[in-house]
Amino acid sequence: MPDLAYVNGEIMPIEKAVVPIEDRGYQFGDGVYEFVASYEGRPFMLEEHLDRLERSMRELALDPVPRADIKKAVLDLFTLSGYPRAGLYIQIARGVAPRNHAITPGMTPQIIMTIRPVQEMPAEKREKGATAITVKDTRWGRCDIKTVQLLSNSLAKQKSLDAGCDDAIFVSGQGIVREGTSSNLFIVSGGRLTTHPLTDNILPGITRMVVLNLCKAADLVVEESFFGIEALLGADEVFLTGTVTELLPIVRIDDKSIGNGEVGPITRRLYDLLREQAMAGGPA
Ligand code: PMP
Repeated sequence: MPDLAYVNGEIMPIEKAVVPIEDRGYQFGDGVYEFVASYEGRPFMLEEHLDRLERSMRELALDPVPRADIKKAVLDLFTLSGYPRAGLYIQIARGVAPRNHAITPGMTPQIIMTIRPVQEMPAEKREKGATAITVKDTRWGRCDIKTVQLLSNSLAKQKSLDAGCDDAIFVSGQGIVREGTSSNLFIVSGGRLTTHPLTDNILPGITRMVVLNLCKAADLVVEESFFGIEALLGADEVFLTGTVTELLPIVRIDDKSIGNGEVGPITRRLYDLLREQAMAGGPA
């Protein structure tokens, strides 16, 4: 099977899929999305991704789309693609109408999906750790909604690549460390973990939630609280979490080594626990 696309109920090879030019997702970023990955052919945390998609749609007051319809399309694509380790993108835009900032009533939500093999993180990054830069968080005030407006994320990611690093970490104007360009962030200091609390300024990551539960089960202390750049750079360990990122150690930030510059033991342990759970298809 080729990489597949789903467009409003129809499945086709990706290169055949097109959308109307007056789709508000395209012109205004007026849409929401999800990205779900499979392990051994089974989508991981699918219900949680669908919950978040529904929440995102509610927050933007998009017309509801039956969850059963989305779920059926998702499962059909995972099955049809035949990829054991697939990444499935779902996007729901408000609809198509002559371009106007005001929202035209009665539009039909435009649902598209694509499925491809997951682009795995190079093993070396997991083993030796990745690097990051910090950037000012220029995103809008509702980063908790998974909208398709990702320009700040995309530009920050590119800036990190241009600097020879792997990712960028958003820091607020007041110096609060938020998250990565497509991941949440944890620090470990003195054996205790800290991550940004769930507010309007970060995405409520599914992997973040899985990792918080793994910490609880492993008796690791985690605090959901704000911290600044000094705590970040002074941490013993730093890692990012996300559906594609999984759990990625960061060993250098803004040219400063984190801890001893090697992947730390808590990061390693949590990565193994996360992989175990993903390969098992979910929590025990
Ligand atoms: N924060 C941002 C900004 C993201 O784009 C993502 C990935 N979608 C995450 C965090 C991690 O979320 P998840 O674990 O649900 O993939």
